[in-house]
Amino acid sequence: MIDYHNLTPEQEEEMIQSEFKALLRDYAATAHKQKIEIITKAFEFANKAHGGVKRRSGEPYIMHPLAVARIVVNEIGLGSTSICAALLHDVVEDTDYTVEDIANEFNPKIASIVAGLTKISGGIFGEGASAQAENFRKLILTIPEDVRVILIKMADRLHNMRTLGSMPPAKQLKITGETQYIYAPLAQRLGFFLIKTELENLSFKYEQPSIYSKLERQIMQVTPMLEDAFRIFIQPITKILDSYGYDYEIVKRIKSPYSVFKKMQTKHITFEEVYDLLAVRIILKPKPNENEKANCWVTYSAITSIYTPHPDRTRDWINTPKSNGYEALHVTVMGPGGNWIEVQIRSQRMNDIAEKGLAAHWKYKTGEQEESDLDKWFKSIKEMLDTSDFTNAVEFMDTFKLNLYSTEIFVFTPKGDIRKMPAKSTALDFAFHLHSDIGSHCIGAKVDHRLVPISYELQSGDQVEILTSKSQKPQMEWLDFCTTGKAKAQLRTILKKELKAIIKRGQDAVEEAINSVGQPVNNQTLQVVLDHFKITNSANLYSAIGNGKIDTSVIPSLFLNKTKNKWMRIWKLQFGSNDNKKEETTSQPTQHNPKKTLHITDADVGSGYKIADCCQPIPGDNVLGFIETGGDVIVHKRDCPVAQKLQASYGNRILSANWETQKVLSFLTTIEISGVDQTGLLKQIVQVISDDYAINIKNINIDTTNGVFLGTLDIYVYSADDINNLCKNLLKIKALKSVKRIK
Ligand code: MN
Repeated sequence: MIDYHNLTPEQEEEMIQSEFKALLRDYAATAHKQKIEIITKAFEFANKAHGGVKRRSGEPYIMHPLAVARIVVNEIGLGSTSICAALLHDVVEDTDYTVEDIANEFNPKIASIVAGLTKISGGIFGEGASAQAENFRKLILTIPEDVRVILIKMADRLHNMRTLGSMPPAKQLKITGETQYIYAPLAQRLGFFLIKTELENLSFKYEQPSIYSKLERQIMQVTPMLEDAFRIFIQPITKILDSYGYDYEIVKRIKSPYSVFKKMQTKHITFEEVYDLLAVRIILKPKPNENEKANCWVTYSAITSIYTPHPDRTRDWINTPKSNGYEALHVTVMGPGGNWIEVQIRSQRMNDIAEKGLAAHWKYKTGEQEESDLDKWFKSIKEMLDTSDFTNAVEFMDTFKLNLYSTEIFVFTPKGDIRKMPAKSTALDFAFHLHSDIGSHCIGAKVDHRLVPISYELQSGDQVEILTSKSQKPQMEWLDFCTTGKAKAQLRTILKKELKAIIKRGQDAVEEAINSVGQPVNNQTLQVVLDHFKITNSANLYSAIGNGKIDTSVIPSLFLNKTKNKWMRIWKLQFGSNDNKKEETTSQPTQHNPKKTLHITDADVGSGYKIADCCQPIPGDNVLGFIETGGDVIVHKRDCPVAQKLQASYGNRILSANWETQKVLSFLTTIEISGVDQTGLLKQIVQVISDDYAINIKNINIDTTNGVFLGTLDIYVYSADDINNLCKNLLKIKALKSVKRIK
C-alpha cells in the first residue's frame, strides 16, 4: 500500500489529476452525451472546496468524491448530472458552501441531489439514540423523489466499504452493521447484484476477519486448478458457438469468501464440499434479427449435448424472471474433471440488468412494456410512506426492510418443475399446494436432500420433496405451520371432518376404559379422568385421545386407586444437578470472577457485561459488545440479527470485542438434532455426550412423529469449539441426519 502521508504536494496534485483523467476516460467509454465541461467544473469546485483536507488514510479528501463518481459511471451506469452530484456530494456537508451556492454555480437538479445526499450524510454520530435510523428514513423518503440520490449514496457506501481498513475497529463494525442491515438488501432489491455481493463480502471481511482470510487462502489455493478446468471446459463450447456464428463472451466467476461461507453455513458442509466454486457465464450478443431467448436455449442445448446436465439443477429465469428482474438460464453440468460446474447463459441485455440493475432496466425499457415488478415496488413504497404514520424511525426501518424482500419465492419439485409460492411459505404449505391429500399426509420434507420438519420455511431455489405417510393425520397445530391462505383453508376443512371422527373415537375409547373396570360413564367418573389429565372439557379430552396424544391405558387404574402412569410422548431427562452452573451464567461473571477473559479492545468498559439472551454467545464465538445506558456491556454474536440492528441504529455504542475461554465458566447452549427414529438412539446420543468431558447435559427433548424425530439438547460447554466437536461426534451416529447449534 502507498503511504499517503509522505507525498509531496506535487505528487498529491499529480495523483488527483490522474484520477480525474481516469474518470473522464470512464465517462468517454459510455454512450452518454459527453458533457465534459460541467463535469470539469464540478471537479474543480469540489477540489477547491476540499482543498488541504485529508482522509484518515492520508489521501487528499477529493480522492473520495472522485472514486464515488467513477463508481457512479462504471458500476451504476449513470450520466453527467449524477457524476457532478457525486463529485460534490460532501461539499455542503463538510465545507462552508451551501446548497444555494451549488444551485447558482451549476443547476437546480444537481443542487437538489446534493441536498438530498447532505440530508442523509453519515455525519450525525451524536448522542441521539436513533440518529442513524432517522438518516435511513430520510434516505428512503428520497427514493420516489429522485432515485439518483439513493444510487449515489450506494456508490458512496461502496467506496467507504472498500477503504474501511483505515477506520478504527469500532467504527468498522458500525459501518458493516449498517451495510448488512440496509445497503446490501437495498442493492439486491434494486438489482445491483455485483454491488450487493461486494458489500456483503466486505462486511464479512471486517466482521469475521479470521474466517474470511482462511477462506480467501483456501480459494486462492484452488484457483489455478479452477482456471485450468475453465479453459478445458469451454473449448468444445466455443467450437459449437463459433460454428453458429454467435457473437458471445465467456467469463469465469469464482465464488467470494462470503458466498462460500454462506453456502457452508446453510448446507452444513465443508469447504471441500462446495461444488460450485467455479461458475461459467456465457453472455450472448444477438444480432438485431435474432431472438435472444431462442439463442439462450440453443446455447443450452449445445452445452448439454457436450456435458451431462444435473437432472435437478436447471433454472429457467428466462420464462419466469426473479422479482428483482433477474433473467438467465442456469444449468449445472458434469465437467470433464468429474466436477459439477454451473453455467449461466444470458443475453447482453440480461447481463446488464443483472449487474447494473435499475439503470439498465430503464435503458431497455420500451413504452408499451407493462408495469414491471420494480415499478410496482416503488409504488408500494410510496403508498406506504403516504399512508403510514410511523412513531419512530426504527419502526419505520423495520417495516421498510420487510418490503425490501421480494414477496415471492420459487421452489422446485424433485422433477425440477418450478412452482411460485408466497414468501415465508413452509414445507407444509407446499405439500398442500401440490394436493390436499399430500398435505394431509405430510410428515416432513427433504430440501436439497436434507431432512426438514413440516414447519420449515422454504427459500427461493429450494428443491423440495414432500415425505408422506399413510398413517399421518392432519393436526390442529398445523395451522401454525402454514402461512398460505390456501393451505389453511384446506386444512380447516379436513380438520373439521377429522375432528368429528376423532372425538367419536376418543369418546368410545374413554367409555370403554371406564366400563372395563365396571364403572358407569357419568359426570363423576368423567371428571376423575379430566382431573387426571388436567383437561377442562370432555371434547378436548376426546380429541386428545382420538388423536393418540393421550393413552387411555391409564384410565382403569384411576378407578382402582393405583399410582400414576406415564403417558407423555415427549422424553424429558434431567441430568445431575447443574443448578450452580446455571447461576453462573445468568449473573454477571465479570464482577464475581476477575479471571473472566472478556477482552474488549478499544474502549474503557463499564462495570460489567451481560450475555445477550437472543443469541447466547459463548467463548470462541465472534462477538461484539453493546454499551447499555447504564454502562454495562451486552455481548452479542456478530451475526445475531439483533446485533446487526444495534450496529445499524446505535453505531457509536458498539465495541469491538474478543472472547476466549479459560475453561473456568461453562455456558448453557442448545443444539437441535433430527433424523430417523430407531431403538437405542437416545442411549447412543447420551453416550456420545457423556464421553466428552467438556460437556454436561441439562436437558434432552425429543419429539417423534411417524419415524422422524426432532429434538433439542440443552448442554453446558466452555466454548464454541466444544460444540463443534460434539456436533461432529453426534453426526457419526447414522440415524442422525442433522445436528446444529440453535442458540
Ligand atoms: Mn462520502
